[in-house]
Amino acid sequence: MTSSTTPVRVRYAPSPTGIPHIGNIRTALFCWVLARQTGGQFIVRIEDTDRARYDNSAEKAIFESLDWLGLDYDEGPIKGGPHAPYTQSERQQKYVEAALSLVESGHAYFDDTTPEQLDALRERQRAAKQPPRYDGRGRHRSPGEIEESRKAGLPITVRLKVAEFGSVSFQDTVRGKVTFDLKEIDDFVILKSDQMPTYHLAHVLDDHAMGITHVIRGDEWISSTPRHLMIHQAFGIEPPIYVHVPLILGKDRSKLSKRHGATSALEYRDRGFMQDAVFNFISLLGWSPGDDTEIMNRDEIVKRFSIDRINDSPAIFDSEKLEWMNGVYIRNTSKEHLVEAVLPFLERPESEGGLPDSVVRPIDRAYLERVIPLVHERLKLLTEASETLDFFFVDSVNPKAEELPGRNMDAEMTSSALASALELCKTVTPFEPQHLESEYRALAEKMEMKPGQLFSPVRVATTGKVFAPPLFETMAAIGQDRCIERLENAVEILRSGATAP
Ligand code: GLU
Repeated sequence: MTSSTTPVRVRYAPSPTGIPHIGNIRTALFCWVLARQTGGQFIVRIEDTDRARYDNSAEKAIFESLDWLGLDYDEGPIKGGPHAPYTQSERQQKYVEAALSLVESGHAYFDDTTPEQLDALRERQRAAKQPPRYDGRGRHRSPGEIEESRKAGLPITVRLKVAEFGSVSFQDTVRGKVTFDLKEIDDFVILKSDQMPTYHLAHVLDDHAMGITHVIRGDEWISSTPRHLMIHQAFGIEPPIYVHVPLILGKDRSKLSKRHGATSALEYRDRGFMQDAVFNFISLLGWSPGDDTEIMNRDEIVKRFSIDRINDSPAIFDSEKLEWMNGVYIRNTSKEHLVEAVLPFLERPESEGGLPDSVVRPIDRAYLERVIPLVHERLKLLTEASETLDFFFVDSVNPKAEELPGRNMDAEMTSSALASALELCKTVTPFEPQHLESEYRALAEKMEMKPGQLFSPVRVATTGKVFAPPLFETMAAIGQDRCIERLENAVEILRSGATAP
């Protein structure tokens, strides 16, 4: 049980081999929340010892994801801290020394088995229907034989000695007591032939050196944990508390993949999700506050989070729920914040979903502040802002002739409605929503039309859309001159029966 008064030291230790996916970032988020709740430290450590799979853009994406979600860290690369460096490739010497000390103490040994020999062994085991397992042959190599192999340029690894019988158990905060039979674990490599440590060795040493109290990580690591415990034992050090968080599955209960939507936090950013909505959504992947509350801001999550309430069954990733949540966050956000959030989306190039390129950048912020309240309630995604607001920003719109008539209106009726609407538009003053509304209602009455019949073609003429925000506020924001031009254009479209090219 974690008392919220005991400060934790927790770490997010990604391997920069691919863009961090939601499950990976969830680990970071849980760690961050727990650190903030307890007044502890959140540490970021880059586990880049697999040099063949190292990917610089993945490392950049890791920090960008943390930054976007506001997961600031207390110690880590760039920032530094008392246990620097926080990038494993820069700590190599420590791992080599530690591995050699285990050889010295008899807990580990050099092995010169070649990859070809290992392949042959696995092949034999497969043929004999035995599980693939290293057979411990290196234990019997003498120092002289190892030396000869080394001179001959053969790859030399260091392997940990694992007892052949017995079991390893540990108490996992989420899963409870977990036991593994040692039969399932062979003498595994801790130092590779390129003198780089394996993940098993490196993270155990670093977690210990960095004073990590809780290892919070994905469930996929649970079967490796006995190995980690054995490394602790060999060094005579205490293991941390393990918290293995459940897998994340799609709604169809299969492993989360592209099929279920975006799988990286940054993709959600680019698709127009609000950072606080994604934060809230991720916090509920495998954790719940114990009641039905779903919308919680960061402070509330920090207050209510508890590792004891992490679920041991898989979390279901429901992208529709995320969209709904995003809509709630957009509705609840202030006008100023929404302006700030949509601006970069509106200013993207048109080909990437921004406003038409004809609209001058930077876009007029004061004008955006004026029009955004008109669509605030309707936005579900920030990316929708361009198509929802474009008619406010462009010079002209080009509705299709067939979209102009309202319900039960023929072309003639639509034409006369638009012509009268245009005349009124030229003279009405002040050009303000309330006044516009009463004048246009009076016009409808005079023309013996239902108000909606008059308003529909005017809406399509002035916005180019069948669905648009409240008409008279919209017209006032578009301005009298542009409304006149657009109504003239619509009259012309109807007259010629075609949209201007
Ligand atoms: N480097 C490992 C990963 O990327 C860390 C696992 C752990 O948290 O121990 O998943």
